[in-house]
Amino acid sequence: MRIAVPREIKNHEYRVALTPAGAHELTSRGHDVYVEQGAGLGSAITDEEYLAAGAKVLATADDVWAEGDLVLKVKEPIAEEYPRLRAGQTLFTYLHLAADKPLTEALLASGTTAIAYETVQLPNRALPLLAPMSEVAGRLAPQVGAFALMKPSGGRGVLPGGVPGVAPARVVVIGGGVAGLNAATIAVGMGADVQILDTNVDRLRQIDGQFQGRLRTLASTSFAIEQAVREADLVIGAVLVPGAAAPKLVSNALVAQMKPGSVLVDIAIDQGGCFEDSRATTHAEPTYEVHDSVFYCVANMPGAVPRTSTYALTNVTLPYAVALAGKGWEKALKDDRSLALGLNAHAGQLTNGPVAEATGLAH
Ligand code: NAD
Repeated sequence: MRIAVPREIKNHEYRVALTPAGAHELTSRGHDVYVEQGAGLGSAITDEEYLAAGAKVLATADDVWAEGDLVLKVKEPIAEEYPRLRAGQTLFTYLHLAADKPLTEALLASGTTAIAYETVQLPNRALPLLAPMSEVAGRLAPQVGAFALMKPSGGRGVLPGGVPGVAPARVVVIGGGVAGLNAATIAVGMGADVQILDTNVDRLRQIDGQFQGRLRTLASTSFAIEQAVREADLVIGAVLVPGAAAPKLVSNALVAQMKPGSVLVDIAIDQGGCFEDSRATTHAEPTYEVHDSVFYCVANMPGAVPRTSTYALTNVTLPYAVALAGKGWEKALKDDRSLALGLNAHAGQLTNGPVAEATGLAH
């Protein structure tokens, strides 16, 4: 099969959908891989690395898209890319169609077969192609929090790990899912005094077993959150209620009672945020002040570490790409129910119920 990897052109998107290892995997199975010139540069991958892995490097996006039976991308096509969509081509990428009616209409008009990373779902309901980005955002949260805690950044001037004879910072992680667990792991590694709250006590049991006393788990109630947040130097919000906006768990009044210079990192900002005062920020201007506290609410945290994010994402997308390339999309989906749940559009029809409902387009 012919596999195309265009350069991402969405603003500030530096990831790429295939690494040289992925290109090697596909070409060694007899497929042709076409990568757009410079596609990997944002992730510090050169054209030469793709060539050495057996891929062909083409100069323009039009050339690359034209070659592909299967197009691998990271972000949804933007308007400039709509004319390149066509029937008989399979597109495998993050799509988030429910929030994007113009793209949904363009996909339907083109007849493309579109498989969305974010709706691929395992039998245990986990979302394997979203999890790595939660891992990245979670691991990044204590790092950006520690930076914001420094005095020149407007923070309290506290070193997370303390030093011998001086207490470490107190870090409170709200939500113990993929992002929260990864945030707690790094905060513990920094030597901070870490508490993690979740409403799911089974989850807390797992975390407690894993950390063997190196952090404290707390059942999440508004009372427990208030007590923990008042004492915190750094609060990391990482909750998710599937299919709903994030619950507001830290009020403006509670922030007013926090220590001056404390920091709040809201990973859940892409679902509206779990602090009352959260509003989405960008990497260019990531923080703002509320009372005497510093808020960090970047909606695409993994974008700050595109090299790590590219490798994290492609580690999990590659097996599906190999299946799509080797079997063709129909057989690959027939053989794998998880991948089949990724099909969002085919031959002008929407094939995903929630997307059809959200966009008001026929199912
Ligand atoms: P997850 O489903 O693995 O974990 C969410 C956890 O929140 C669950 O354990 C759940 O029990 C817990 N929870 C729900 N309500 C709670 C409450 N009231 N108190 C405490 N815990 C509660 O989800 P995840 O993959 O860890 O994602 C977390 C959030 O991070 C999501 O909103 C996701 O979209 C977001 N995210 C953001 C970025 C970014 O760049 N900002 C990147 C990746 C993911």
